[in-house]
Amino acid sequence: MASMWNPWRGCKKCSEGCKYCYIHKGDSKRNTDTGEIVKTKDFSKPVEKQKNGTYKVKSGLVYLGFPQISS
Ligand code: SF4
Repeated sequence: MASMWNPWRGCKKCSEGCKYCYIHKGDSKRNTDTGEIVKTKDFSKPVEKQKNGTYKVKSGLVYLGFPQISS
């Protein structure tokens, strides 16, 4: 089973390919500055363990840095 890990949120447009990037539009609706790149609460998640001693992020496929929708 795949896991997801988003250690930061935010991004800055860096090329023509970013012209229609959806995260800027969504963040704008929520008055969030996409250009402000910040660590998330999950930044250290891969080294964190659960009470039973197993890692919170399971080994295997991990999707990294998928653009997040802020809340
Ligand atoms: S997330 Fe958007 S702004 Fe950031 S690099 Fe990708 S396309 Fe560009």
